[in-house]
Amino acid sequence: MRIGLYPGTFDPITIGHVDIIRRASALVDRLVIGVAINRDKGPLFSLEERVSMIEAECARLSDQTGTEIIAHPFENLLIDCAKDVGAQVILRGLRAVADFEYEYQMVGMNRAMDDSIETVFLMAEARHQAVASKLVKEIARLGGDVSKFVTPAVLQALQKKFG
Ligand code: ADP
Repeated sequence: MRIGLYPGTFDPITIGHVDIIRRASALVDRLVIGVAINRDKGPLFSLEERVSMIEAECARLSDQTGTEIIAHPFENLLIDCAKDVGAQVILRGLRAVADFEYEYQMVGMNRAMDDSIETVFLMAEARHQAVASKLVKEIARLGGDVSKFVTPAVLQALQKKFG
């Protein structure tokens, strides 16, 4: 059984994430969405809110793809989380050049800790490439329309947060 781990903060889940989850779920039998607790980053949405938004999106994707997709909060090292969930592969999304430097370092460090877990990078469809949670939150906070970047349920949650 091939198990993949797709980690992130998902604050909140965007259509960029959904795109990557759809692609990732085609590659594995079980996809674990690792939800970083990230207390230091001061997320807008609580862990429970982030997990429940992910679960709502994943239930639909799971039905479409037939792959089991589960949300798994984690606070430890990514490589240890991968071992905890039995993942042989870590899946990451890659946006143009912005993500490259950080991801390059992460792969190097993770490989030094455990060479048996492979990292695979996926690219979202071109029109989903620029979407980032951070920008979505900023636009929503300033009263802009983010309906192109998130699903209707997440849009509603953002509107509730920012009034
Ligand atoms: P963000 O960087 O938007 O705050 P996360 O930290 O939750 O999101 O990202 C989790 C993973 O999803 C990372 O590998 C990130 O590169 C990837 N990702 C996020 N948005 C996109 C996108 N629009 N296209 C491709 N990958 C993405």
